[in-house]
This record gives sequence, C-alpha cells and structure tokens, in this order.
Amino acid sequence: MADVKKIAVIAGDGIGPEVVGEALKVLKKTEELYGYQFETTHGLFGGIAIDEKGTPLPQETLDICKAADAVLLGAVGGPKWDNNSKELRPETGLLGIRKALGLFSNIRPANVFDCLKEASTLKPEVLEGTDLIVVRELTGGIYFGEKFRRQGAHGEEAVDTCVYNVVEVERIVRQGFEIARTRRKKLASVDKANVLETSRLWREVVNRIAPEYPDVELEHVLVDNCAMQLLRRPSSFDVIVTENMFGDIISDEAAMLTGSIGMLSSASLGEGAFGLYEPVHGSAPDIAGQGISNPIATILSVALMFRLTFGYHEAAQAIEDAVKSVLDAGHRTGDIAVDKSKAIGTTEMGDLIVAAIKK
Ligand code: NAD
Repeated sequence: MADVKKIAVIAGDGIGPEVVGEALKVLKKTEELYGYQFETTHGLFGGIAIDEKGTPLPQETLDICKAADAVLLGAVGGPKWDNNSKELRPETGLLGIRKALGLFSNIRPANVFDCLKEASTLKPEVLEGTDLIVVRELTGGIYFGEKFRRQGAHGEEAVDTCVYNVVEVERIVRQGFEIARTRRKKLASVDKANVLETSRLWREVVNRIAPEYPDVELEHVLVDNCAMQLLRRPSSFDVIVTENMFGDIISDEAAMLTGSIGMLSSASLGEGAFGLYEPVHGSAPDIAGQGISNPIATILSVALMFRLTFGYHEAAQAIEDAVKSVLDAGHRTGDIAVDKSKAIGTTEMGDLIVAAIKK
C-alpha cells in the first residue's frame, strides 16, 4: 500500500483560498500520475479564524498541523483586522504557528525563469542561470534578544542584544549543508565575522561541521559582500545559509532578482522532515475575490514540499517544468503580464499547469 502523506491545508484570507485551490489540483494530478496518496485536512487560520473562533490560531488548527507531515498555507491578513489588538491580529497567528511547530529555519528559493528575465530590474545577462536558495535562521539572533531603553551620557539609549548558541547555529548550518547536497553542492555561509562575536561563533561552528560534508564546496562570505555579489553574480550562488537578520534582508534582496512576488515559494522547517510551505506573498486584499491572482508561488511551494519533506524529487521537477513550459508558451497572470489585456485568471493558470505536469 502506498505511503499516505498527511497535509494540513490552511487557506487563510484574501487570495489564500484561491491560490491554495490551484495547489490542491496539482497535488491531485501527482496522485494520479505517480500513485501518491495525500490525506488533506483543512484548518481555520488568520482573519477567518478570528471571525469564526475568536483567535487567529485555534487549538484545533494547531492539532491538525501537528498531526500532519507537512502544512500548506495560503496567506493571512487584511484591512478588516488591521486595527485589532495584537492578540487578535492574523499576523500574530503566523508567529504563533512557527513557534508552536518548532520551525527554526526559513527556506526561500529564488530562481529566474528565462522568459521572465525582463520583469526584473537587473540586466538579463546578469540574471542568466540564477537559481539559489536562502536558508535563514528564524528563531534566534537580534530579533529575539533582550531589548530595552536606558539613560546614557547623551540621554535616552536603546539596546538590542544579539545572542546565538552553538546548538542553534549547528542545526541551521547542517540544514544548509543538507540542502546543498541535494542541489549543486555549493554552500555560502554569510556572516559578519570581522566585527560580530556571534558571527565568529557561527563561523567556528561552520568550519567544525564542514568536514562532515566533503562533497559540498564551502565559502564564507561577509554579509555586506554578499549583498553586493547577489546583484553582480547571482548565478554563482547555490545555497546561502545565514542568521536571522542577515537572512531577512538577503532573502528579500534575492527575491527581487526574480521580478514578481507572485512567483516566490517558501518553506519553514524544524527538526526532521516536517515543514510548513507557503507563498512569500501576503493575502493581497486589493485583488482578492477577483480570480486574477497568480497561483504559481503556491504551486511551487508544493514542489518545495515534495523535495524537502517527502523526497519526491521527480514529481517536484515535473511541477517546476510544467510551470516553466506554461510560462514559455506565453501565458501570464496580470502581475507578470506585459500586455495586461491578455492576462489569464487564477483558475486558468492553475489548469494549464496541471495539464502540463507530465511523468
Ligand atoms: P501582499 O503580498 O499581500 O501584496 C503586495 C502586492 O502584490 C499587492 O499589490 C498584491 O495585489 C500583489 N500580489 C501579492 N501576491 C500576488 C499574487 N499571488 N498574484 C498577483 N498579485 C499579487 O502584501 P501587502 O499588501 O503588504 O499585505 C496584505 C496583507 O497580507 C496584510 O494584511 C499583511 O499583513 C498580510 N501578509 C501576510 C503574509 C503571510 O500570510 N505570510 C505575508 C505578507 C503579508
């Protein structure tokens, strides 16, 4: 009997349900083609959960996620809940779910589709062959360190502390090496070891672990240099692993190489194979309900789930190839269309991709 994979499906708000709907069609198609079995369970999360259950992250949704092998998330938020108190804001649920599921890394691929090179602000020849992944530590560093105000010699001062321990660094760095192993086997560890003590510890740990991965080529890159090289030679990067704040900035920079937010997938991982997969974009309230959102980021999040959680590499490749072939054939949703009058809708894009998935 086939191995049944349990997927918690959390559509969320705004365009979330639309784009997740298309991703579910992709799951179904791979079941038919590859004989996979997926058991999907839907949960409420975000604004809709506030409306129906009085909290952005109901316990039953968390239970569904914990019982699953992976979570597929749409997006949450919208103007309706923007003025709510902190505990009744959809975004509070996002932090809560990551914490409750022990997700300590965020994975963001940035690959440039040849036919969309024109959509980027960089020259096409610079972008040629760009296909990288940023692995960002998510639960430590300066965002989570002690913060306070005090009176200093020149009046009020603010202090943010940055703390990393060996265990936190080790687990994320190993993830970086492991992911590099499944790709072009190049790892760039990004730090600021010429200035920061946390970065010096980071680099020590990387160097200690590196001999366990002799097949992976390692380079240390200072974060300021990395920011420059991403714009100069993005195609030379394969996997970038870095701490929380550097990763926050670097992953947004890398995202912009690709030109459109509607194309970007992401994963948050913890120990083991479990992961939460979602598009990078938000709930896009400005276009919600119109059937014009781009479902590709969410569909590519399914491909990422196949690679990182299920090890279904062949099917992941088939999904990515299908997206590429549909784009190559000239089909575009409004966000990536040059001629907006020829743009197709969410469902049409999803259907074309599903039809293009071949074994
Ligand atoms: P957004 O990503 O929702 O939208 C930014 C712009 O990109 C909008 O013009 C939108 O129409 C467009 N866009 C986004 N995704 C698209 C897609 N798939 N297809 C076509 N166009 C797309 O960011 P925002 O407007 O800053 O935030 C809207 C809401 O989403 C807010 O409530 C915010 O808090 C929330 N948000 C949620 C998440 C999440 O769920 N992980 C992430 C970011 C923002």
